[in-house]
Amino acid sequence: MPETPHKKCPICGKPAVDEFKPFCSKRCADIDLNRWLTGNYVIPARDDEPLPDADGEEN
Ligand SMILES: [Zn+2]
Repeated sequence: MPETPHKKCPICGKPAVDEFKPFCSKRCADIDLNRWLTGNYVIPARDDEPLPDADGEEN
């Protein structure tokens, strides 16, 4: 089988390192992780809206 070519780091384009693949370094892995988090993790709005007035029977 032919050698699988080293993948390039998606962040900076350098050859990926096994330890951090598909990235070339922990730094790039962190960058990607941050991108992923900020891109997908939506901070939920505070759920402190006032309770709606119960328009019904009241005890
Ligand atoms: Zn990199």
